Amino acid sequence: TSSTAIIGAGIGGIATAVRLAVAGHRVVVFEAQESFGGKMHQLELPGGYRFDGGPSLFTLPHLVDELFRLAGREPRDYFRYQRLDPITEYFFADGTRLTAWADEEKFAQEVEARLGTPAADVRAFLARSGRAYDATAGTFLHKSLHKAGTYLSPEVLKALAALPRLGLTNTMHQRHQAAFADPRLVQLFDRFATYNGSDPYQAPATLSMIPHLEHGIGAFYPEGGIYAIAQSLVRLARELGVEFRYREPVQEILVQGSRVTGLRTDQGSYTFDQVVSNMDVVPTYRHLLAGQPAPERTLAQPRSSSALIFYWGIGRRFPELGVHNIFFSGDYKREFEAIFQEQTVATDPTVYVNITSGHTPTDAPVGHENWFVMINVPHDQGQDWPALVARTRTAVLARLSQALGTELAPLIRAEHVWDPPGIAARTSSFGGALYGSSSNNALAAFLRHPNFSGRLKGLYFCGGSVHPGGGIPLCLLSAHIVSDLMKSET
Ligand code: FAD
Repeated sequence: TSSTAIIGAGIGGIATAVRLAVAGHRVVVFEAQESFGGKMHQLELPGGYRFDGGPSLFTLPHLVDELFRLAGREPRDYFRYQRLDPITEYFFADGTRLTAWADEEKFAQEVEARLGTPAADVRAFLARSGRAYDATAGTFLHKSLHKAGTYLSPEVLKALAALPRLGLTNTMHQRHQAAFADPRLVQLFDRFATYNGSDPYQAPATLSMIPHLEHGIGAFYPEGGIYAIAQSLVRLARELGVEFRYREPVQEILVQGSRVTGLRTDQGSYTFDQVVSNMDVVPTYRHLLAGQPAPERTLAQPRSSSALIFYWGIGRRFPELGVHNIFFSGDYKREFEAIFQEQTVATDPTVYVNITSGHTPTDAPVGHENWFVMINVPHDQGQDWPALVARTRTAVLARLSQALGTELAPLIRAEHVWDPPGIAARTSSFGGALYGSSSNNALAAFLRHPNFSGRLKGLYFCGGSVHPGGGIPLCLLSAHIVSDLMKSET
């Protein structure tokens, strides 16, 4: 049997472990932290509040189900979820409120009733988003873009031919401006750029396919919260014989000639046939492969945005809020200039509030709520974070108190803060970027690091910092690509 080490128990590493164990490998996962999940972790605050620490929006759940089926298991014996309806509650700066219903037609009608934009325009936009997704997703997300074979299939040639039509030369924002006269709708759809940490004023219009994930295919809520995804997959991996070694950070990937031979931790050296790095590709090269040439151009790609999160135990219920709530800023352009040009936090940021206690009552005491309050911010480049956090906390409290018509500060019963340096420290993500490199230019998809090393045989990469990108679904797809590559090469 082939033996494979995986560095990191993030969702990409866990999914890779499952796939390789099913394929008959002996798999050992080395994790620096005390437990699995990486960005997808959970935390508890005094007073009985539980939070999902990182991701909160879950799309494409079939990618999780697929792993249980692959192992011959019934997914529902491990993991359950429901489709969210409504998906999101929007609060615009001018006081307008809008509910995004799961049903496209109902959502289009709601937009017409609240904003005055004809439902037909919304329908047409979402249909186009769906067509763009269907035309390209199979190619750009499901296969390695860095193997010649990929470019020989008719499907791929068709997708490449479609690219100019789908918009590589104009931006997402321009696409949305052409589709809608109402700036509030433009803002609503521009926000989908942040789903991979990008800037709608720079990202190519091809990314306008992202709304299809949520509005066409659906947003989902796992029973017990997002952390249940990692928990159920680790349970499966263990049943398949995968060994997890916690608190054992890998210090070096061992190389002989042009082949990887194993790895070294503070507990010793281990021999493996293959090594898969699920940690961010930048520190993988800088620290674990320090003596090897690094792909400098790839590593120098601009980072995606990071996040500033306030986890608040709130001593009241807000029936007007759902699982996902967006409080938009008054000047979106200014907000993205602050993040991506000035590398700072906007003074009037858009605020995202995720509340799971409505669906998972054990996440907060009776009559209370667990608020995950997130702002998009730049990745860490040595900014004065304590000052930015203090200033932003005041701005966020003011924005939420104004929108909800009640003073929020006195309702905060427990608090924890996670900022970009904290994200970097806990997950090794370079600069605390949430999604590896950004997709702010048309060629970004091709400039991400491949899922394998071109120089070192037996070395592979999965997770949000490499192809096809960040976010739960793409990390799961990276695991699929890695296991396919290994099958064809070993
Ligand atoms: P990571 O989660 O990055 O984990 C890497 C693991 O490697 C960590 O456990 C780390 O400890 C370990 N490690 C690092 N170095 C070493 C070493 N030397 N030795 C051993 N182990 C090591 N995605 C969505 O789909 N929806 C969302 O709503 C969403 N929101 C997000 C909000 C926040 C605040 C954050 C932080 C992320 C969000 N994301 C979201 C992105 C998503 O969480 C990530 O893309 C995904 O979880 C990354 O998984 P990964 O496989 O890349 O591994």
